Amino acid sequence: MSTDAQDLTDEQVAHYRQVLAAHAGKPELGGCPVCGVPRCPDWTTAYDMLAAAHQVMTESPPPWKPFRPGRKPNDVNLST
Ligand SMILES: [Zn+2]
Repeated sequence: MSTDAQDLTDEQVAHYRQVLAAHAGKPELGGCPVCGVPRCPDWTTAYDMLAAAHQVMTESPPPWKPFRPGRKPNDVNLST
């Protein structure tokens, strides 16, 4: 099965995550603390690269579970 996701090395993923964290907009600053603008080019580039590679944006697991059609975690032993 082919995919058009871009392949990033672990180092690249870690780098882009660091960029995302460093350039994350701060409400009290009105934007990026490094560049001084909201959604600065560095942040946007890192976000796009991670999104294109289907990588999550942070090291921590996302608070949601992937949606899997037809596979519910709770439908075991409930069919009567
Ligand atoms: Zn920035």
